[in-house]
Amino acid sequence: MKWGGILSSDCEFPSRILLLDTTLRDGEQTPGVSLTPEKKLRIALKLDELGVDFIEAGFAAASKGEFEALKLISEQGLRADVYSFSRCVKSDIDSAADAGVDGVALTIPTSDLHLKYKLNKDRGFVLERTEECVEYAKTRGLTVEFLAEDGSRSDIDFLEKVFKKAVECGADRVCLCDTVGVLTSEKTAEMVRRLSDSVTVPLAVHCHNDFGLAVSNSITALKNGAQEVHVTVNGLGERAGNAALEELVVALTVLYGCKLNVKTKLLYETSRLVARLTGIFLQPNKAIVGDNAFTHESGIHTHGVLSHPATYEPISPELVGASRRIAVGKHAGSHGVEAVLRSMGLEVSKEQLTEILRRVKALGDRGKQVTEADLQAIAEAVLGLPRVRPIMLEELTVVTGNRVTPMASVRLSLNGRSITEAATGVGPVDAAINAIRKAVSAVEPVQLEEYHVKAITGGTDAVVEVMVRLRRGDRVVTAMGARGDIVMASVEAVLSGMNALLVDYEKLMEGGRVEDER
Ligand code: MN
Repeated sequence: MKWGGILSSDCEFPSRILLLDTTLRDGEQTPGVSLTPEKKLRIALKLDELGVDFIEAGFAAASKGEFEALKLISEQGLRADVYSFSRCVKSDIDSAADAGVDGVALTIPTSDLHLKYKLNKDRGFVLERTEECVEYAKTRGLTVEFLAEDGSRSDIDFLEKVFKKAVECGADRVCLCDTVGVLTSEKTAEMVRRLSDSVTVPLAVHCHNDFGLAVSNSITALKNGAQEVHVTVNGLGERAGNAALEELVVALTVLYGCKLNVKTKLLYETSRLVARLTGIFLQPNKAIVGDNAFTHESGIHTHGVLSHPATYEPISPELVGASRRIAVGKHAGSHGVEAVLRSMGLEVSKEQLTEILRRVKALGDRGKQVTEADLQAIAEAVLGLPRVRPIMLEELTVVTGNRVTPMASVRLSLNGRSITEAATGVGPVDAAINAIRKAVSAVEPVQLEEYHVKAITGGTDAVVEVMVRLRRGDRVVTAMGARGDIVMASVEAVLSGMNALLVDYEKLMEGGRVEDER
């Protein structure tokens, strides 16, 4: 599937596009993110499997932990080359070399603004340091990608001079950094054309997303002489972040028909792994990997997608390893609701469907987000089915405080069988959910995919809304809990979702056993 055909013929992409992933360096500089060496290793292994060419895995001279992380990753014998960030300072280069990396992203500012206010040096200093440090890094056996920090706001004649000096001294590649994301497509084309013509080594660009143009500028650079782009998973990075790996890769592949070495099917799980380990979750409408990227609610769109996915999906979710979801809500139409009900094992008549849809819309009109668990409850009421709840909570005790590890014990019945379990957690909610999961997963493999506290308003006695997403095999459901007690709101959400996943309607409709009327 390629919807391109808008590509102007005077611009050519390089036959081999190189990707440097800097999730573990610039991405880690995202406010609030700090990764242990073990977490960095997990991400690096995934990036290597994904197929990027270079992994900038950290800044060896920054801390002991960073050094350890780079050493650990370098020891893995990855297919990708491992890089450390390094200032144009000999001790930084030494740290990188001692950590055993393949190369350095050797960086020096080139704009007068940075020279004056950051370094308090002149242009001559930059040329001297460039010579000294590129040569030194080469003597330490490192591959050198030479980065001009704030390159996009530098005097281009001077920038050209610095790049030429770096190449003369042995730099293997040079990189134009749009450190504060101010490049436009036009200026990117102009600068990249000029710089790539004047150096004999591959030119890279490092684009930031302050104006939302990072991916677009990266593509423009590739069309105008750059051979390499810097990216991060989920577009993490300083301030508004860097060019997003998943967006760039899919745009190049699908819209421009470029051949890349990236296994696109791994993009979704890579994105989730990075979100989980960094704690930076995605906005739902994030391109390519956001929760809503392949979710349809409105009746018109749902109908279209169910009859032919391409009507409202520019790419199939499978391309990036994601899956399509039909959401229910006030914009829902009969086709979508019927499809969701069928996936739950519920067959409905036309009249029943009309009534279910009416109730779904009424709930939506009251400002409620309608979850799959809600839809199920509505359908049961309309179909006159008994409200079977495979899991019944009988007793829950949670202990927390400043001198105890938060722990919870639970007694519940699962299909009539009584189970008792206990678990600890980082807090009372985690402990309670862990105990329930332990009890249930012994019998049914239900996974908690997401947990959100949706709304806390007012004082400490306010109602807390908790939204969860659970999976059992192919089926995914969302469910909500709302209580004044955050532990009980969480438990309610999880139990409601688990119950929605565990009801066996086929058995029920055949007149199978009915355990509970509640
Ligand atoms: Mn940066």
